[in-house]
Amino acid sequence: RAVGEGGDRVCFHSELQSQKEQRKLRLEQDLRYALERNELQVYYQQQCCESEFISAAEALLRWQHPDLGMIPPDEFIELAEQSGQIIEIGEWVLQQACEQVKSWNREGRRMGVAINVSVKQLVVPQFVDSVKEVLALTKVDPSLIEFELTESMLMENLEAGKQAMLKIKAMGVRFAIDDFGTGHSSLAYLSQLPFDVLKIDHSFVKQLPRDPHYCKVTKAILSLAKNLGLTVVAEGVEQQEQMRWLRRHGCDLMQGYLLGKPVSVPEFRKLLALQPVVH
Ligand code: C2E
Ligand code: MG
Ligand code: MG
Ligand code: MG
Repeated sequence: RAVGEGGDRVCFHSELQSQKEQRKLRLEQDLRYALERNELQVYYQQQCCESEFISAAEALLRWQHPDLGMIPPDEFIELAEQSGQIIEIGEWVLQQACEQVKSWNREGRRMGVAINVSVKQLVVPQFVDSVKEVLALTKVDPSLIEFELTESMLMENLEAGKQAMLKIKAMGVRFAIDDFGTGHSSLAYLSQLPFDVLKIDHSFVKQLPRDPHYCKVTKAILSLAKNLGLTVVAEGVEQQEQMRWLRRHGCDLMQGYLLGKPVSVPEFRKLLALQPVVH
């Protein structure tokens, strides 16, 4: 339909709007069966250190919808959080990722995995037990597991979040602050939480090294993180100059399309095969 007069445009807009709403409704409904129908998959994206060896991977959820194709997590995680399904889906991701680490172990690779955990999941009382259970069941070394939490959601559930984090930390699992710099969290609060890793959001990385303002802010984040004893991971590294700048300023690990996109388990195995086995 062509966009013509003002009135038409309103109509056109509302049609688009209702299409969006219909898609959302459809996704909401179909998501309920996605897990049991085996439509969910975990992809892995490498995190590399100085030597450009893969030292860890982030587990990223994918939904292969039978009619609508690949649905990105940004479109369905929130729906799962609203419906409460994130609990079940999150547990499944945790299980998959821990089994994957074991399977890499059996191939002689000591690879860590970072798992995104919704704060909605974290603050449910049974989460701590389900982590304990999965660790016991898979017998994975807990120090190879890292949970990524986004700062904004944590700020809304500070006390409950902190209590769960402390219990899980005691099992040997590490914690990362994801998307750092995009929320409005107070650093005073964040530094009281038991984080091990800070992930600089890609909106900062994108501006490096050309934008002097972003360079200054990123340097400040790096120095703050170092003072707090945190390992720093840069997200969304797409260009060689970005990686060079980040390295020069003490960033520990790089993650982004420059090094590799998130890929399926078989694809990831091929990437690993190109690397020497380091014990
Ligand atoms: P995130 O945890 O911040 O993950 C990083 C996102 O950046 C991923 O998007 C990744 O594919 C993308 N990315 C990586 N490198 C680059 C790059 O060089 N350039 C650009 N432009 N993007 C890059 P993805 O996989 O679509 O995931 C989006 C978000 O969905 C994640 O953001 C995370 O918050 C959430 N998510 C994914 N899997 C899970 C999960 O299992 N559980 C929960 N609760 N959330 C998840
Ligand atoms: Mg993440
Ligand atoms: Mg992130
Ligand atoms: Mg994100």
